[in-house]
Amino acid sequence: MIRESQGDLKKRVSKIITILKKHYPNATTALHHRNPLELLVATILSAQCTDERVNAVTKELFKKYKSAEDYAKADLKQFEQEIRTTGFYHNKAKNVIAAAKQIVERFGGKVPDNMDDLLSLPGVARKTANVVLGNAFGKNEGIVVDTHVRRVAYRLGLTKQKDAGKIEADLMKLVPQNQWTFFGNALILHGRAYCNARKPNCDECPLEKLCPRVGVDR
Ligand code: SF4
Repeated sequence: MIRESQGDLKKRVSKIITILKKHYPNATTALHHRNPLELLVATILSAQCTDERVNAVTKELFKKYKSAEDYAKADLKQFEQEIRTTGFYHNKAKNVIAAAKQIVERFGGKVPDNMDDLLSLPGVARKTANVVLGNAFGKNEGIVVDTHVRRVAYRLGLTKQKDAGKIEADLMKLVPQNQWTFFGNALILHGRAYCNARKPNCDECPLEKLCPRVGVDR
């Protein structure tokens, strides 16, 4: 396989972005939310769980808990039951309540809008922080790397890395910063629509001509 220069790779990424814009013009997170706090909670609950299930759970949860204070004062056992169907509910409940306490104590009840402060909250790693910063605050501070982004970026030949932080760093070098949030959201949608884990639909994929299909059986 011919090695692609960084310049050529950037040109290819630019074409990929143009096509993604056409196919997913309003790419955004599938997690329902009305404010940064709701998106933070939904994203913590979404680990190892489908967005559909999270949305079903938060539909009821958001009626009851409206502020960081509400979550901070929640009864742990009861909260565990309220989010139980999202899986890993002991940890998720502990993290949501602990994060809410910190938001109340250190940030006046408002979800912080910068990477460092978000990462200082319990249960918040870069993926969660990027989802919140990009989709609730409109800030491009990084690129979300979830299972879909990881798989699609690898098949597109945009990274050889396995570690989420290194994948994100590779993508941040290739994608213009003002497109970081869009790019993560669009790759997630593309992974669901065409580039499925087991059987990618390369024949109908709009990126087919720009994709080396790394690791895909032909
Ligand atoms: S051509 Fe195939 S491997 Fe490449 S992005 Fe499309 S579905 Fe995925």
